[in-house]
Amino acid sequence: MSFIRNTNELYHHGFIQEQDIEEIKKVEQVFSVSLTPQMVDLVAKENAEGPLTKQFIPQPQELMILDNELSDPIGDNAHNVQEGIIHRYPDRCLLMPVNVCPVYCRFCFRREKVGSNSKKLSSEALKKAINYIADHPEIWEVIITGGDPLILNPKQLANIILSLNKIQHLEVIRIHTRIPIVDSKRITDEMLNALKVDKALYIALHANHPSELTPQAVEACAKIVDAGIPMLSQTVLLKGINNNIETLSQLMRAFVKNRIKPYYIHHPDLARGTSHFRVSIQEGQALIKALRGRYSGLCQPTYVLEIPGGYGKIPINDHFITPKGKGYCMEDYQGRYHEYADQ
Ligand SMILES: *Cc1c(COP(=O)(O)O)cnc(C)c1O
Ligand code: SF4
Repeated sequence: MSFIRNTNELYHHGFIQEQDIEEIKKVEQVFSVSLTPQMVDLVAKENAEGPLTKQFIPQPQELMILDNELSDPIGDNAHNVQEGIIHRYPDRCLLMPVNVCPVYCRFCFRREKVGSNSKKLSSEALKKAINYIADHPEIWEVIITGGDPLILNPKQLANIILSLNKIQHLEVIRIHTRIPIVDSKRITDEMLNALKVDKALYIALHANHPSELTPQAVEACAKIVDAGIPMLSQTVLLKGINNNIETLSQLMRAFVKNRIKPYYIHHPDLARGTSHFRVSIQEGQALIKALRGRYSGLCQPTYVLEIPGGYGKIPINDHFITPKGKGYCMEDYQGRYHEYADQ
């Protein structure tokens, strides 16, 4: 098995229909396509409705751009203080050493920034980006993202991590990645050595369906955690993929069982050509509410939305309490109400 990176290869593998070829070629011009051999294998075992198929195989619907959709849905541009750095919140910033990914998720919120035509930062620009962090003592945490930073080889990664490790005011390094799932064999001892530093280093894993946690993926995550690196999860709520309580609860349990603490569930962003993935906030709130109480507290992620324009992430969970008289009316996980006198 090898990588799939274009429409002809998709067709050759039987992943798209002949009548869709022309349209998918148009999609590919705007939004990059890539599947790792590992994902090709999984998609080959699914039908057209499969969760991996839906996440990675381009669809003609991606050509449908709605009026409210944006090329920069989370407002990265507003805080792009210099090449490779997005500094939106005072105490933390994003460092983006690469703009490519091993796979291109069809719903990606940065789909117009990442892709096969984008390049990694030049070493000059990377130096400047790291100097920016060194020059801003208010930066307590760096989130290395992109693109997928673990696509770098261990040496390149070690260079970045070691330079960050020298910055005194920086205390936490966080890496956001899909590599442990989509290209598990990249998690080698050499890679883990590159991540060994004095500062706290966390890895946040992006996964959306329990079937992504294959034995290879689970093994890669175990290696990371065994190396002393705590893991977090982030999931995008996606129509037809995980917008039901069975899938969502299985996914959260799979994370926890594998020592990955559920961190965020993202409401899908208004990225262009992604309307077929979007669920309503009301539906999302009901799902998150259904997790509470019925599943371990460890299985509860925060449901967040990016306010378009770059105003930041906010929790959008449904409320369990409403003001009543001098106190509150509390709703328990079974939908029963209880009064609570505050003070
Ligand atoms: C998501 C994001 C962060 C990290 O936010 P947390 O809530 O700390 O996970 C930081 N900066 C930008 C620009 C982001 O989009
Ligand atoms: S791995 Fe992340 S950045 Fe890359 S395509 Fe998927 S969602 Fe986008």
